[in-house]
Amino acid sequence: MSLDISHLENEIIDQFLLDDSKRPWIIGFSGGKDSTMLLQIVWRSLLRIDPFLRQTRRIYIVCNDTMVENPRIVKFINSTLNKIQKAAVDYELPITVHQTMPQLEDSFWVKLIGLGYPAPNKFYRWCTERLKINPTTKFIKDKISESGEVIILLGTRSAESSNRAASIKKHAVKGKRLRKHQLQNAFVFAPIKDVSTNELWQYLNQVSPPWGGTNKELITLYRNANAGDCPLVIDDTTPSCGNSRFGCWTCTVVNKDRSMEGLIDNGEEWMYPLMEIRNFLVLTRDNPEKYRQKERRNKTVSEHLWGPYTFETRAKILRRILTAQKEIQNAEGVELITHQELVLIQYYWYRDCFFKLRVSDIYNSIYNTSIDMSKQQEKFKQESDLLKTSCKNEEKDVELIQDLLALQKTKTLMIKKRGLQSDIESRLEQYLEVEKKK
Ligand code: SF4
Repeated sequence: MSLDISHLENEIIDQFLLDDSKRPWIIGFSGGKDSTMLLQIVWRSLLRIDPFLRQTRRIYIVCNDTMVENPRIVKFINSTLNKIQKAAVDYELPITVHQTMPQLEDSFWVKLIGLGYPAPNKFYRWCTERLKINPTTKFIKDKISESGEVIILLGTRSAESSNRAASIKKHAVKGKRLRKHQLQNAFVFAPIKDVSTNELWQYLNQVSPPWGGTNKELITLYRNANAGDCPLVIDDTTPSCGNSRFGCWTCTVVNKDRSMEGLIDNGEEWMYPLMEIRNFLVLTRDNPEKYRQKERRNKTVSEHLWGPYTFETRAKILRRILTAQKEIQNAEGVELITHQELVLIQYYWYRDCFFKLRVSDIYNSIYNTSIDMSKQQEKFKQESDLLKTSCKNEEKDVELIQDLLALQKTKTLMIKKRGLQSDIESRLEQYLEVEKKK
């Protein structure tokens, strides 16, 4: 029997026409089952609206790439996003697709290998905010500054978990479809919140995506990975990531990455080196006496609190990543760490201790190349000496200025300086905040 979801489409159409302030819609899309159903229903609803009226509102589809997404899922999502953008043009829908990413200085590898952050666990989960929340929040804030207010459409469902159900209820504005978002001037619309998991799968099985193809690949991915999905995390109603869903392949917050194991068991053996790296990260995190420094970044030493990874550990992790990358790059075309990340890691290594090994030495030994980073090393050293001499009466300013320089460098590496000023401002604000508390 086919599933009747016409009431959901009617609600979406009603909301679209009711709100004549034409606040843009931002659809959070993770490529998973919930956001796929949401987008299909929104798309079909839009087609039922008069073509002139539907051009009056901008609709942004936003998908976040943490830079350590499971590469198998990345391939699938990228191809889906391309299809969506092309079909939106063909159907003349006011939809554009946007991908957000963490700032380079916040990337998983820059933090872990560059600065020595230990692999995250549930008590020290430094990654979610940096890799997921901040990039999408920035996108939403930009749209709020452009338009005053926005409506965010999410595929959250009460049936997903009791926590989520309670949270959805807490934020609901009685008698209204929209609920307030934590960000000022943003509202959330969750049209499929009452759809059960069975209904969702029934729908995806029966209704093909309007942007082309079928949902077969999506369904197979879920089946092979025994997984839930890792939704776009943009407020506290979205469950935390991890927990047997398509999250980052590096995720050490979950005890076991069942989705990656599931994919390997079902024929994606090339992912085996990734699983080994992930398991090595768990080992380094759980054995601080072997892999971490005694001294913390603030130069204190305490019996129970360990400092960052030693440089030897960071070099070991980097070596493993590059080795795995070389192994799978030819067959699968997967890049595990970017060139920009490598350069910034090197910058932090110079800055923190002039570690005898260079990133380029490790890279050369694996790829058999002869990249020479000694000139940059000399430049960084001169810069650092100059800074220390100039700040000899205000030593605490050295670190702040080095941070600001690192921000500037990352923007240069990314070849765009957009956002540099606001990043510098927020770093200065953080600094002043800390100073005030002293
Ligand atoms: S999936 Fe894991 S590693 Fe990725 S952001 Fe979430 S908790 Fe962190």
